[in-house]
Amino acid sequence: MPHRPQPRNAVKNGMTRAALRRFRRRKFLSGAGAGALGALLSGCGALAKLDKGLYGAHQSATEEDLITGKRVIGSASREEQISEGNASMEKAVSDYSAFNEDVDRRAYARLKKIFDRVHAVSHYANEEWEVLLLPDDNFNAFVTGGTYVAVFKGLMDQVPDDAAVAAVLGHEIGHVTANHVFERESSLFNLLDGQTGLDFAYGALQEEEADKIGAVYAALAGYDPRSISKVWAAFAGGNQWSWFRTHPASDDRARATRILGERASEYYIPGAINPDHGQLARCNSLWCNR
Ligand SMILES: [Zn+2]
Repeated sequence: MPHRPQPRNAVKNGMTRAALRRFRRRKFLSGAGAGALGALLSGCGALAKLDKGLYGAHQSATEEDLITGKRVIGSASREEQISEGNASMEKAVSDYSAFNEDVDRRAYARLKKIFDRVHAVSHYANEEWEVLLLPDDNFNAFVTGGTYVAVFKGLMDQVPDDAAVAAVLGHEIGHVTANHVFERESSLFNLLDGQTGLDFAYGALQEEEADKIGAVYAALAGYDPRSISKVWAAFAGGNQWSWFRTHPASDDRARATRILGERASEYYIPGAINPDHGQLARCNSLWCNR
């Protein structure tokens, strides 16, 4: 997906500080992300240990590209990715005035339902992930490499088809799965230079790979993986949505995702999670990493 939202002050208002404090309490200083963020900000040894306990089991698997099986040289351990990624996400959302059900109760319920199914068949099913709904009219979604996927309300409003939303969410998780976030210069995520990881686009090959992963995740979660190509086709041709600044060839993308969707559809059981999803996420007709 595109990664260039509108200036964040577009939604800034007097609620910002209070909303942010509430958000931090709820989303970052509780649950699975607590150790990572706490350790990063305070250097607290106890929290670092807690985090290791939660995520240590994944380290050996996640220091390699989960799709190709190749070791990723110089990549952060998953524990470090979660620390950096979640801190980046907190920074990225810090100017928003409201989150999740405070943005739109129905849209959030819909988003969370779809997300939970897609996450359950992803390579990160054993990590506690969360989806965030942000009050922005842009058609956009993004990840920062940790355990959060952020989705703008504009995307939910523009895509009534749950299956297409599933493919978008799968695409975003896929950027983490394939290590795209941390393949980029680590300075992008350096808190000291004020970067959030939001202000860049992925390369075309990375986008293709994320589309592929998104199609398979959607299919395994019981959503028709062919649906996303209709969204690209519908939006093809001169519009101002932010993602077309990074993906101008939307006709091409509609075609490419239609082919991917057809291939992934062999794993699609309408409305049901594919019982073989664990094995199929590792090895299927689009990639195989045994
Ligand atoms: Zn993308």
